[in-house]
Amino acid sequence: MIEIPKDAILCLDKGFVRLVDSMGGDDAIVQAARVSYGKGTAKVSQDRGLIRYLMRHRHTTPFEMVEFKFHCKMPIFVARQWVRHRTANINEYSLRYSEARDEFYTPDPEHIEFQSALNKQGRMGEVPEELKQKVQDYFKEISERSFAMYAELNEAGVARELARAILPVNLYTEWYWKNDLHNLLHFVGLRSDSHAQYEIRVFSDAMAESIKKVAPFAWEAYQDYVVSGLRFSQIEKGMLEKRLPGRVIDDICEDLAYQITATLHHNKPRKEEDLFPLYQKQGGSDIESDFRLKWDSGEIETGNVREMREFKIKLKRLKK
Ligand SMILES: Cc1cc2nc3c(=O)[nH]c(=O)nc-3n(C[C@H](O)[C@H](O)[C@H](O)COP(=O)(O)OP(=O)(O)OC[C@H]3O[C@@H](n4cnc5c(N)ncnc54)[C@H](O)[C@@H]3O)c2cc1C
Repeated sequence: MIEIPKDAILCLDKGFVRLVDSMGGDDAIVQAARVSYGKGTAKVSQDRGLIRYLMRHRHTTPFEMVEFKFHCKMPIFVARQWVRHRTANINEYSLRYSEARDEFYTPDPEHIEFQSALNKQGRMGEVPEELKQKVQDYFKEISERSFAMYAELNEAGVARELARAILPVNLYTEWYWKNDLHNLLHFVGLRSDSHAQYEIRVFSDAMAESIKKVAPFAWEAYQDYVVSGLRFSQIEKGMLEKRLPGRVIDDICEDLAYQITATLHHNKPRKEEDLFPLYQKQGGSDIESDFRLKWDSGEIETGNVREMREFKIKLKRLKK
């Protein structure tokens, strides 16, 4: 019987991730960022805006003010990938000090696939049932056989630090893993990505659940700007500059003029007669009757004014 702590998220067949402790959250990020100005009386919506601004501009140190400590149990081959993330503090179950436990990973049939022909670091394609069965049998056979040998050597008094070396990398290990939010997001960005190995993705996804709870604005901003955001290389930007018709850029800027007007109005309602001048101030070029038609359609979205203005600047830089 495998013992899983009550508040843990079960990962793979015998592993888990459990948030042991955390320090700070979205408020700690904001507090650190505003340190030069004193605490202030900013509203929640302003906190969200500030966190999004920091993330967008890769001002990362305020995110390091939030700390997470996890208790995790994973196969050794997963731990091998995990330790490559060097910024964490780790304390691992010692097989020099303690005896190994008879806990090995066996993949579920749906995760047994062929080597991908497209991606050298991936799997792809349905494996016939009998081959899946063989994979599972081999995993179990090597686990049982090696553990029996290990137990025998242990019984004979051979040093544990040496006897452990005959155990395979599907043996489960356990550790406490502590990291700050900036580096944890970096970890999750790499390890919850579809290119990461399934077995580590499961653990990364489980840790992501804690981030969502502890720092929801930071999580949202990371998804929007880092995970789903796009950056262009110099070459790609050059192609866009050459190929993107100026009228397309003008159309997007026009939409942005409406959206910025709607957002400013939403944040601080204006008088009816002030709306069209406000829209013109944002660079809007429609005549007043067209402005009214579109304004009354109710289809104009709102967003973050600063972000939209930055987007306009980027778009204009693409226009030759
Ligand atoms: C899909 C995938 C495939 C991979 N394949 C391989 C592979 O085939 N072989 C292999 O060896 N590895 C592989 N890796 C591991 C990868 O190369 C990185 O070692 C791992 O993802 C950790 O990334 P990191 O260094 O950014 O993270 P961390 O170690 O957590 O560091 C976070 C950031 O801190 C900074 N930093 C930390 N330490 C230093 C330092 N000493 N010097 C300068 N800056 C530092 C860097 O900016 C870094 O991005 C793979 C990773 C992924 C996600």
